[in-house]
Amino acid sequence: MYYIDPHIHMISRVTDDYQRMAQCGCLAVSEPAFWAGFDRGSAEGFRDYFRHLVEVEPKRAAQFDICHYSWLCVNAKEAENVKLSREVIALIPEYLNRPNVLGIGEIGLNKNTANEATIFQEHVDLATKTDELMLIHTPHLEDKYKGTRMIIDMLKGDRRVNPARVCIDHVEEHTVRLALDSGFWCGMTLYPTTKCTPERAVDIIEMVGSERILANSAGDWGKSNPLAVPEFIQEMKRRGHPETVIRKVVHDNPLEFFRQSVRWQEPADGRITEKETGPGTARPRPAAEMARS
Ligand SMILES: [Zn+2]
Repeated sequence: MYYIDPHIHMISRVTDDYQRMAQCGCLAVSEPAFWAGFDRGSAEGFRDYFRHLVEVEPKRAAQFDICHYSWLCVNAKEAENVKLSREVIALIPEYLNRPNVLGIGEIGLNKNTANEATIFQEHVDLATKTDELMLIHTPHLEDKYKGTRMIIDMLKGDRRVNPARVCIDHVEEHTVRLALDSGFWCGMTLYPTTKCTPERAVDIIEMVGSERILANSAGDWGKSNPLAVPEFIQEMKRRGHPETVIRKVVHDNPLEFFRQSVRWQEPADGRITEKETGPGTARPRPAAEMARS
């Protein structure tokens, strides 16, 4: 089955991973800006990172017919350094007009500190002023419920924010309804240590349904699995879920969310649309709709 991985850090993965993902049916990935495993020394370090996201990875992915999209921000961990974060936020607009940039992310909280909350709100301000989509990181383990609550309260407290243009990521059983009930999209992360297993993710689908929900691998430099979405597909099939429901979660939903981006560009060869309904049965999209959506 064709799928999209809406959250994976390909900068940390080898080229063979792209090949194996393509062999498993991956059509597109989106890569949020994140913590590189060390705190960067200056805003210029982020400039180089953004160039990598918008210039290098799309070319590497294209070798395997995978479309690469990205999100820009200062991650919550480095947001503890408010001065540096403000310098980085100031340079983001230069990169927002690059092709394949979907919005601001992954912003959010890590340890739920006051500095993190300040920088989170400054990112939200930038996103609303520039009409960008937002991808939100929620904290891990014991900080998750409180952090998710804080994030949702901050977003709901800003009347400019449209929840339909925000995805709350790394949801688990105890936070998924917080996000969905407030009208946000949400992402389940299939990560072997700190987040959901494929089995738990299928339990969540059985609990809340398949509306406004995505599944991703969050593959990165940690112990993680770039083929986690195909494993989720296998588990959905094993439990007898119909193909239409599986495809909705791993393909149609990410597309519906991404297509709201002002700069969303579908590849001209119809690579993605054609595979929505199977080869040869694509619904042709009028040029005007392509340009707008
Ligand atoms: Zn991430």
